[in-house]
This record gives sequence, structure tokens and C-alpha cells, in this order.
Amino acid sequence: MLTMTSFDFNGKKALVRVDLNVPQDANGKVTDDSRARAIVPTVTKILSDGGSAILMSHLGRPKGKVNAAMSLKPVAEHLAMLLGKPVLFATDCVGPDAKAKAAALKSGEVLVLENLRFHPEEEAGDEEFSKTLGQLGDVYVNDAFGTAHRAHASTTIVAKYFPGAKLFGNLMQAEIDSVGKVLGNPQRPLTAIIGGSKVSSKIEVLENLISKCDEVVVGGGMAFTFIKAQGGQVGTSLVEDDQLETARTILASAMDKGVQLHLPTDAVVADAFAENANTDVCSANAIPDGWMGLDIGPETSKAFATVVKRSRTLLWNGPMGVFEMKPFQKGTIAIAEAVADATAYGAFSLVGGGDSVAAVNQFGLADKISYVSTGGGAMLEYLEGKVLPGIAAVQG
Ligand code: AMP
Repeated sequence: MLTMTSFDFNGKKALVRVDLNVPQDANGKVTDDSRARAIVPTVTKILSDGGSAILMSHLGRPKGKVNAAMSLKPVAEHLAMLLGKPVLFATDCVGPDAKAKAAALKSGEVLVLENLRFHPEEEAGDEEFSKTLGQLGDVYVNDAFGTAHRAHASTTIVAKYFPGAKLFGNLMQAEIDSVGKVLGNPQRPLTAIIGGSKVSSKIEVLENLISKCDEVVVGGGMAFTFIKAQGGQVGTSLVEDDQLETARTILASAMDKGVQLHLPTDAVVADAFAENANTDVCSANAIPDGWMGLDIGPETSKAFATVVKRSRTLLWNGPMGVFEMKPFQKGTIAIAEAVADATAYGAFSLVGGGDSVAAVNQFGLADKISYVSTGGGAMLEYLEGKVLPGIAAVQG
């Protein structure tokens, strides 16, 4: 396999799938440029080798139609600022303008193509459209981990037009390497911390992780389905009654495999799903009627932190409580701090696949984690053990 470090882009036109799907305000001004910043190392490497870069991305959900509010032009201008050099722009991703500008592109230059999703063929993975895109460059780089779980034209199908000339960008490679450190051959003990609202959205992640981890910590709203499945009283906490059997199967499977599955023993409860609700702390399996568990309690935070700190590899997906509301964020903060502490002592930590990324950013702990993933849905599917089409297309 070709890699960014060993590949020489000198004289090559690199067609790069990036993720420039950045949030913008009503005037098109970029409000959070993390995704644009994240692709800079890949673009810089191509240019410093003496190559040129043709960047393609989607922005928003224009549903196959041209929509001026979702143009990548303002994002291209922002990227020019980040790169400290002019960035050319093609008013369509295929067609005469893109073709002419790509053909005229000189070494050291960057061209951004207009939003791929202005064409329905992108999401449909259309062959002809993919082929036309492929004709723009002579090497294909996929640096868009966030869309790697989608078999779209630019993320997957186009790769086949570059036999022997396709590779992962720096960002994509970092995501793949991080998952490899957790699910490949991890340093043990390996612990997964799983939270968030629903069991139903995490069943496959839990099943895959139980077959790989030494310990699994379950918090967040989903913990109450497990607690109810064990016969606990959970009041009006979030429970998926149709998942009680699944929860029992997961508990049995953990037991079978000798995996320690830790559930909350106490909870911060409230009499309403509101920031200003009355709150209390009680046993997680004896929540009174009319009260709901919205965070793990102090005893649980302590116990979970102990598990986290004795681990050598950590994977965290999903918050421990309703961290968006101040009275229910202590549990998530305690876990974030424990993960940061474990990392400081040499553990490898990966946070990804959901709101836990927002939580570590909100609490200012992102730089104390070994790797914070950029791909929500893609990371979740990767952790489920699925083959991501965008990855397979480059590896194949
Ligand atoms: P997910 O997208 O599945 O990772 O879930 C994230 C959401 O779960 C966040 O918006 C949290 O507010 C929510 N959440 C976490 N704990 C609870 C809880 N105990 N009850 C209700 N919602 C929760």
C-alpha cells in the first residue's frame, strides 16, 4: 500500500476527497474550521513535494440540486487563509470549468471543486460521474474519514480508476491507526466506556467490543435499560422496553467471555428533564416513581474512574449523562478527567463516534486524549467491526 510519507507527489495532480463540511453562519462565514484545518497536513505534503491538489467535498445536504447557500466558495476562501496561498475554485465539480481548471493546474497550486452533492450521482455512487471525477487527477487520496462509511462516487467508486495510485491522506491514516491500536493488538487491559442515550443505537458496538475488551463500563441513558433488565426500579428514566432482552443477552455474553461489565450503582436523579429540575442522588436500581436518572452518581463516577485508570488502552463512546445541562455533567467530566489522567500515565485513549467528542471539547480536555476522532457515524460503524467502503476501496 502507498502511504503519504513514502509517496512522492512531484509533478502529480492529486485528486483529494476531503471533508470541508464545515458549519457556517447565515452569511456563509465559517464558524468552526476544525475540519478545514484537519486537511492542511495532507495538502501541504502534496504541495511541498511539487504536486498540485484538486480538492473535492460535500457541504450540507443539497439533495442533488444546486443550492447557492451550500456553495464551497466561502470555504475555499477560508482554506486559502489557512494555507497562506491563493486557492482556485471551479464552479462545478464536473463539466468544462472543472476540466479546464484541473488541466491548467500547475505544481504548487490548489483547486477546490464546487459541492459534490449538487449532483445526485455523488450519493448514488454513479459510475459515469465517478469516472469523470477520476479524469481530473492522476493520483487519488482519500482524507475524508467522516464519509468513509458511505459508498459514494467520490469516497469509494472513484478509487477504482486509480489502480496502483490511491492512498489515504494523513487524517484518514491517523483515524485508521487509532482504531488499530484499540481493536488490533491493544495493550491490556483494554476498556471500553460506552454511554449515550440508547441501547438500540449501540448494540453492534457493544457486541463487537465485548468480544475484544477486558472491561466494559456502561453509563448514560442506556444503562437504565440494563438495570431494568436485571429487575431494578428505574422510575421514569429513559428505557427501551423492546431492548430488555438484548440487554440480557449482552450481559450474558460478557459473563461468558469473562469480561467485567460495570453498570452504575448510583444515579443523579431529577423530577423533570430540565436544567432547573429538583435533583437528588439515589441507588441506580431503586429510583422512585416520578424521578429519572440523568447522570451517574458520585459513587459510580469514582468506581468507573478506578476502572479507567487501571487500563492501558481506552475507548470512549457516548456521555455518562445529559452533559448538555449543568446539573448532569459531573459524571461525564469525571470520566473525561480519568481518561486524561490515564493517558498522562501512558495509556492510549481514543474518543470517538458521538457526543463524547463534543464533551471532551466542551470540557477543554481534547488535547489530553491520545486521539479524538473526527468521524461520528463512520467511527461508530468502524467500532461495530464493519468494513468501511471508503477504506476498502483504497486498500483493495
Ligand atoms: P448518543 O448520541 O447515543 O451518544 O447519545 C448522546 C445523548 O445522550 C446526549 O445528548 C445526552 O444528553 C443523552 N443522555 C445521556 N445520558 C442520558 C440519560 N441518563 N437520560 C437521557 N439522555 C441521556
